[in-house]
Amino acid sequence: MKVILADYSGFCFGVEKAINTTFEELEKKQVKDNISSLGPLIHNNQVVKDLEEKGVKVFEDINDISTGSVIVRSHGVSEEIYEIAKDKGLNIIDATCPFVRRIQNIAKKYHDKGYTIAIIGNPKHPEVIGINGWCNNEAIIIKDEENLKQIPKFDKLCVVAQTTMSVDQYEKIIEQLENYANEIVKFNTICSATKERQLAAKNLAEKVEAMIVIGGYHSSNTQKLVSICEEIKPDATYHVETVEDLPLKDIKQYKIVGVTAGASTPKWIINEIIHKLSNI
Ligand code: SF4
Repeated sequence: MKVILADYSGFCFGVEKAINTTFEELEKKQVKDNISSLGPLIHNNQVVKDLEEKGVKVFEDINDISTGSVIVRSHGVSEEIYEIAKDKGLNIIDATCPFVRRIQNIAKKYHDKGYTIAIIGNPKHPEVIGINGWCNNEAIIIKDEENLKQIPKFDKLCVVAQTTMSVDQYEKIIEQLENYANEIVKFNTICSATKERQLAAKNLAEKVEAMIVIGGYHSSNTQKLVSICEEIKPDATYHVETVEDLPLKDIKQYKIVGVTAGASTPKWIINEIIHKLSNI
């Protein structure tokens, strides 16, 4: 079987930075015994398990952490979480991706100027919840075109997007949002890593018989890659987390297969899968 790996597969710059920062901190004696992460560091069970074995405890709620260091992951958190951590005397290890930080800054700045903030993204995603926490949790969150039916008209609207939003979806929504405000400022904050990865996956899906998308089942950017590939290969797109998930019986029928991977997928998992497929 011929296997082609899409460009920009696997760890993005922000995730790589978060992982490196965490490992650097783990080396330091004073934090080694007491280091927590607010939510799993990345959306990859294998990496999170490895970090847990090295002593990184995962908490969902800042109120459950009483001492030591707390890692803010690449998704970022609300302004309030920083304040609570500071009040508790926690040492903050901030691994917020600079692309996410930029959105938080835009949300705060325009909220202070009197704009309503609209976030195009998934309201349940931690990145979106975090951004909303920089505009007093007053943002309107638009997940899809259906949501537009429920929103009123605004005077001044400032629009940002979740970094891993699909470009097509963003464009469809932004076009319609123009009708919902007297004044609108738009920031396409989909990160370049996401755009490049999605485009590369799309281009590859057009050239191969089947696509394997590697990444956490709960990873938002991986799910987007799956739907992009499914649009081109509706019956031949497979989402797997590890080599064990490969549906080998199905895949054996193909001679040329493409592989792409979400931003939280470590290289060793990608290599293991490519190796397995190449041996078919
Ligand atoms: S996907 Fe983009 S915004 Fe998100 S962590 Fe990676 S580089 Fe940062």
